[in-house]
Amino acid sequence: MISDPFMNWNELSAKILGGRSISRDEGVQILRSSDDELLALLQAAFDVRRAYFGRRVNLHVIQNVKSGLCSEDCAFCSQSAVSSSPIERYSMQSPEEIVDGAKRADELGAVKYCMVASSRGPSQPELTVLCDALRRIKGRSKLHLCVSLGLLDEEEARGLKAAGADRINHNLETSRRFFPSICQAHGYDDRIRTIRNAQAAGLEICSGGLVGMGETLEDRVDLALELRELKVNSIPVNFFNPRAGTPLEKVAKIKPGDCLRALAMFRMINPTCDIRAAGGREACIGLLQPLVLYSANSIFTEGYLTTPGQGYSRDRAMIEDAGFEVAAIEA
Ligand code: SF4
Repeated sequence: MISDPFMNWNELSAKILGGRSISRDEGVQILRSSDDELLALLQAAFDVRRAYFGRRVNLHVIQNVKSGLCSEDCAFCSQSAVSSSPIERYSMQSPEEIVDGAKRADELGAVKYCMVASSRGPSQPELTVLCDALRRIKGRSKLHLCVSLGLLDEEEARGLKAAGADRINHNLETSRRFFPSICQAHGYDDRIRTIRNAQAAGLEICSGGLVGMGETLEDRVDLALELRELKVNSIPVNFFNPRAGTPLEKVAKIKPGDCLRALAMFRMINPTCDIRAAGGREACIGLLQPLVLYSANSIFTEGYLTTPGQGYSRDRAMIEDAGFEVAAIEA
């Protein structure tokens, strides 16, 4: 299909900006494109990104509010019940610790503060703590607040919204076809139900996944299409960095170019979404990291759930050196 890559990548971005959706085949073509076409592809993704987000980059700060104690068996996850990864394990933090994390996010100029608990779903006492923290943070900060607590019913989602949550994170992780290869403890439809419950409660949805776990290129596109169907607001694209002590520890690390092609594909299938270059950015993309900004309009700074990042100063320098700007919180 793509005989003149420069001309055709431009045509693809023009099609998207003209309001038309790209097909599954076109998504796969993006992922199959060669390194020779990479800059032309990124230019096309950037044309779409720039139309909706300019050169702004949203900074997100993540807080692991309950670490390493999950009952579920997600094969990629160092916090799962089947992982022996050497990570910190602790139960739900106090409201004060969670509020302190928000203060730090404010100091860094973040727009989003993401509170994440490793769990199948929250207990009532955990929800009480989280809701207390949400109310306290909302009372003193303009940060947008996102919580990720596992599976939620609609009543739990409504409670979180009433306490001050703006958004729920619940990743689909991968395609429906590949999901049983990485998780048996719960199903794809359980995850979709949680997203629907949160939407019914009036919450924004952050849902994305991981690339590089052994899934096919078609699986990556199918995840992007599923998220388009669900009309999610935000898509974190994580790059799988195999963790010792997990069932997937021997999977070969995904190449930087494939990470960049994945981000471009997510941007082009979900043009208006907040697309985040998320976990594994430093480990998998290395020196090519500034190129994520041509597709993604947001990044995590100051590390991830169980791994450090390159740090705020280097993230900020990367953004500014590449001619992008850190976004401020919108009123
Ligand atoms: S449900 Fe979340 S925290 Fe638990 S094992 Fe799966 S990915 Fe990890």
